[in-house]
Amino acid sequence: MGDDEIKKQLWDAVLGELELTLSKASFTTWLKNTFIISFRDGIITVAVPNTFSQAWLKQKYHQKIYQILQGKTNERIKEISYKVQSLKNYQQDLLERKKKFIEDVKKEKVETPAGEQTPASLNPRYTFDAFIVGKGNELAHAAAQAISDAPGKTYNPLFIYGGVGLGKTHIMQAVGHQIKMNHPNKKVLYATCEQFTNDFISSISAGKMEQFNRVYRSVDLLLVDDIQFLTGKEGTQEAFFHTFNDLYQRDKQVIITADRPPKAIATLEDRLLSRFEWGMIADVSQPDLETRVAILKSKCDDKGFTLEDEIIQYITLNIQNNIRELEGALNKIIAYHQLNALEPTIENVKKILFSISESSKKSGAINAKQLIDLVSDFYNLSIDELLGKSREKRLAFPRQIIMFLLREELRFSYPLIGQELGGRDHTTAMHAYEKIGRVIEADEKVRQEINLLKQKMYAQ
Ligand code: ADP
Ligand code: MG
Repeated sequence: MGDDEIKKQLWDAVLGELELTLSKASFTTWLKNTFIISFRDGIITVAVPNTFSQAWLKQKYHQKIYQILQGKTNERIKEISYKVQSLKNYQQDLLERKKKFIEDVKKEKVETPAGEQTPASLNPRYTFDAFIVGKGNELAHAAAQAISDAPGKTYNPLFIYGGVGLGKTHIMQAVGHQIKMNHPNKKVLYATCEQFTNDFISSISAGKMEQFNRVYRSVDLLLVDDIQFLTGKEGTQEAFFHTFNDLYQRDKQVIITADRPPKAIATLEDRLLSRFEWGMIADVSQPDLETRVAILKSKCDDKGFTLEDEIIQYITLNIQNNIRELEGALNKIIAYHQLNALEPTIENVKKILFSISESSKKSGAINAKQLIDLVSDFYNLSIDELLGKSREKRLAFPRQIIMFLLREELRFSYPLIGQELGGRDHTTAMHAYEKIGRVIEADEKVRQEINLLKQKMYAQ
């Protein structure tokens, strides 16, 4: 019997027994796509799809898993560790390594010159000139400008965080353009976290770490976008840590973005966290009305399109939280009117915005019942308990989180929320919404839990 088969049989035994003791929903949520990665020297490493499965297996089922596994093998098991790694990534990694290996063999020592590995280039539209400064982004913008004047000297690293579509990539790349313009000899490298990860993985498996280091460490400005995706990738975090240190020691500038502050990135190593805190941490938040109007006007100018003030007002009042959506809506409006050779009217614009909001409602969002299921699984509580009358804290808190998410994410009215939660009063829902909002501000752990719940809501 092959190694892989033994690992599979061992894990199947665990799944078989756990299945008997769990509800189907919990079983799939926590155990789908888990498998044994390796069993060596008495150490078993189990792949789990996310940090929640990891915590849950460790805390609640470790003993049981240990007993089942030990019962199935003669070798003494010294340790079982749970590693976040999705089946897809794992298989993809293997496949990529194989492909890479074959390519390398084919090329046989025709080494690619440094730089060829260089990932995506800068988007020509993302300049300082095209960036409108407002209350939500002035700090990040000021820091970015200071860096453009004196890279590596003032704020290093600069860590920009905020929700999607608020201009993080734009600001970071604006620094890249500016530095290239002022100092044509300086090297600028932009990479998404995903590209950095892929480069690292393929370099390491092809034995080309030297080349990787040459590419990433030869730059004067390194931009790494959406670093929250380093979560759970220990090897890549390590590579990033060393890359960062090397650049930092030589006064080279690093700019990083993420969708949340460093502390709220689950499983980010402490040493990496403290590096981020050496520099400047700046947030971008939702633009106020005035800024939205200015942005929309400037985008219209760029595209040589004119909209009446009344229409601009209407659009900016209706799209409040995301500049990418604002731009997307404008593009639709322009396309529609140009295609039909029409002058833009407020009626048509209303129709277009309405159709956009309807289609975004349909895609992806889950309903109240699915959300309740999700939270009950997450906290391992029964739905009857959650919707019941008891005010015990272990029930009341998750219940309030459901109400919060129904309001915040799914835009339910308070009376409707009360109804979904087993016929509660709308004031209870209001109270829950306000309370959780406050707790999120104050409590890192709760903030992370809610972030992960949100991810799960949209990952379905
Ligand atoms: P993020 O990286 O935060 O998700 P992006 O930088 O990709 O957001 O921005 C989304 C879109 O909105 C881009 O087309 C960008 O040019 C535009 N945008 C964002 N902020 C501004 C701003 N302050 N002024 C002008 N355009 C902006
Ligand atoms: Mg971005």
